[in-house]
Amino acid sequence: MAVDDLLVKLERVRPTGKGRWVAKCPAHQDSNPSLSIRELDDGRILLHDFAGCSIEDVINSLGLSFEDLMPGKVNELKKNEHRPFTASDALRCVSFEALLVASAACRVAAGQPIDNSDRERLLLALSCKARKKM
Ligand SMILES: [Zn+2]
Repeated sequence: MAVDDLLVKLERVRPTGKGRWVAKCPAHQDSNPSLSIRELDDGRILLHDFAGCSIEDVINSLGLSFEDLMPGKVNELKKNEHRPFTASDALRCVSFEALLVASAACRVAAGQPIDNSDRERLLLALSCKARKKM
């Protein structure tokens, strides 16, 4: 499957670098994009949800399989790719979460209300429980 065929299935897709995007995770109520997508030079597509959804949940909710993301290379990936995401991917995510918390803090400091969806997302950013599968 070409990465473009995956990206059209996702919402709020935004490029973050060459062969890298973030999008809303289709496996949970994602108000801010937490799904990282990476296309490798050999055509494999890697996914990681920084909110904690398993890749199985993500691809199942898209009606896809591992074979769609990495044709003929699923077993190879399981053996060799223990850390498909770099430290800079993780730092980019932490930076986004920090910005989200700071943005909410500014709203509260200015006396502006935050709605339930913003509150839930803020609690997710502050919580470790949703990251159980990282
Ligand atoms: Zn998710």
